[in-house]
Amino acid sequence: MSQDWTIDDAEELYGVNRWGAGYFSIGANGNIQIAPNHRLPDVTIDMQEVVEEILAEGIQLPAVIRFHDILRSQVEILNETFAQTIAEAEYKARYVGVFPIKVNQMREVVEEIIDAGEPYDYGLEAGSKPELMAVLAYNENPNALTVLNGYKDEDYLTLALLGRQLRRKIIIVIEKFSELEMLIPLSKKLGVEPIIGLRSKMMVRSTGKWASSSGDRAKFGLSITEILNVIDLLKKEDMLHCAKLLHFHIGSQMSDIRKVKEAVAEGARLYAKLVQLGVPLEYLDIGGGLGIDYDGTSSTTDSSRNYSTEEYVADVVYGVKQVCDLEQVPHPNLVSESGRAITAHHSCVVTNIVGEIKNTGAKFDISPAEGEHILVSNMRELVNGHDMHPQERYNDAASFKQSAYEAFKLGILSLEEMAKLDTMYWQILSDIHDSLDRENFVFQELEELEDMLASQYLCNFSIFQSAADTWAIGQVLPVVPISRLNEKPEVRCSIVDITCDSDGKLGKYIEGTEISDNIPMHSLRKGEQYHVGLFLTGAYQDVMGDMHNLFGRLTEVHIYCHDDEPGDFYIEEIVHGTTAEKVLETMQYNTDFMAKTVKKFIDREVRKGNIAPREGVRWTDYYEKCLADTTYLKV
Ligand SMILES: *Cc1c(COP(=O)(O)O)cnc(C)c1O
Repeated sequence: MSQDWTIDDAEELYGVNRWGAGYFSIGANGNIQIAPNHRLPDVTIDMQEVVEEILAEGIQLPAVIRFHDILRSQVEILNETFAQTIAEAEYKARYVGVFPIKVNQMREVVEEIIDAGEPYDYGLEAGSKPELMAVLAYNENPNALTVLNGYKDEDYLTLALLGRQLRRKIIIVIEKFSELEMLIPLSKKLGVEPIIGLRSKMMVRSTGKWASSSGDRAKFGLSITEILNVIDLLKKEDMLHCAKLLHFHIGSQMSDIRKVKEAVAEGARLYAKLVQLGVPLEYLDIGGGLGIDYDGTSSTTDSSRNYSTEEYVADVVYGVKQVCDLEQVPHPNLVSESGRAITAHHSCVVTNIVGEIKNTGAKFDISPAEGEHILVSNMRELVNGHDMHPQERYNDAASFKQSAYEAFKLGILSLEEMAKLDTMYWQILSDIHDSLDRENFVFQELEELEDMLASQYLCNFSIFQSAADTWAIGQVLPVVPISRLNEKPEVRCSIVDITCDSDGKLGKYIEGTEISDNIPMHSLRKGEQYHVGLFLTGAYQDVMGDMHNLFGRLTEVHIYCHDDEPGDFYIEEIVHGTTAEKVLETMQYNTDFMAKTVKKFIDREVRKGNIAPREGVRWTDYYEKCLADTTYLKV
């Protein structure tokens, strides 16, 4: 292996420890290692071994790999951090968090969270009717909360009251005054008393992509005036005793701890004032927003956070306690709705690089030809112009290339001459790039040059299915080769997907502590697969993707760690990805009809004698086989 490259260098470049939260690291063998159980830090799984086992099972990449132990660990860490801090602070109530299923509604994920959270009475949150139907069926623990947010109609409210009949602690959070006007007569008619929460529209503004979740123009929540109106109405209807929870949510991925402190101060004060007015609140729900350090910079950039989970929890517990003690009201039970923080780390996408797109890749014989155009000979002189000032050589090459293009349009240059010019142009650019001493030479076009010369690695996945936020909101997600990290990565590249969309690429990469337009990866070897992992996809990315270009859902592999198993893991379940057939059916195609029609066309050619009968049967079978197969590239 390269003498001048160590695992520390790889760590420095890809920042695995910085974003890995203790779960991910680079092993001495150059493979990504996972320590999925926070209680057993020595039990590690080699990612390359997982991939080899997946391939041995006949699974095609790309695949989503879920580490269920990470999910459980995150649930335990959040609940235990709250419990410890509450004990230390002598806070006089408990933490009863809920998982907002919109962050990852996959049944296996929700089941695992419920199971891991059972000892803590950890509950679920729903934000829509179908989500409510899921949480009604899955949150069985009578001591855990079910918090219902989002806009509601009569069915939504009726289903919530059904939950009350089933003795669940279902809390209907009022987002809009009209929801209460609907709820009161409904609950009287059905004779079921609701537990009511009030969502406050907060004055504090978060920063980052979700800043608009609070402030006057926020989509959700009640202003102070509306809250007082709600209380009046509840009093009038003799239902004030139903109001048990005060809720706020100032936005996802809160990157700055100061905003958390501000929100807690505002929310706790509002809680105290309402209690003093006689509202019998028992819960203060601080919403979601606990961030993830996606880019590993521990900063206030949109893809990072400048605090730890311990710090977040301490600010909440001590912040609420201080206000309540000053206002002389009881400490409320604390509820949080952390989604991203629970699920982001537990899943990743593993896929393969299926090719390289490189400007310097194709070569044409550039030897001089009889009577060639002067532009061609000029460019050839530049090829040999090693003594020239690099800036001048670069400018000349660019200007010859431009002239050549003009000349081609006028019919002056032949195709061969264009191919020669092109070959020479890229040769000159790589030459300049290689000759530059990056540290000591200031060359303003260097970055541009680097970009022009960067390869594009064609990656077998769809951004729109597997990493929607990288496209939609410029989210940074770590992308790292899962092996060969003990070798120096010498190819600067960007990652493009297999959709027919120029937007289908990753635009931002972690390079050390910087965000870069491209990233060093290893050179591809003939006959050898190169596997890369896209990490921290467990929150939102897993479930928000679409079927652009009809690329369907990925095959999922569920991994549990177990120290008696070889490699310390076993595959508990494989959920196969969407087949071409299924994807087509969601777009209203009748695939039986399609298969029959194609068969009819083939039979017609057989009858005409253009296709031999046996061959016809083979074509028919082949078409049907492809319908039942993956939508991704098979390599
Ligand atoms: C989206 C959402 C959450 C989850 O936020 P995270 O940033 O994922 O923790 C929690 N509560 C409400 C009301 C939400 O809309």
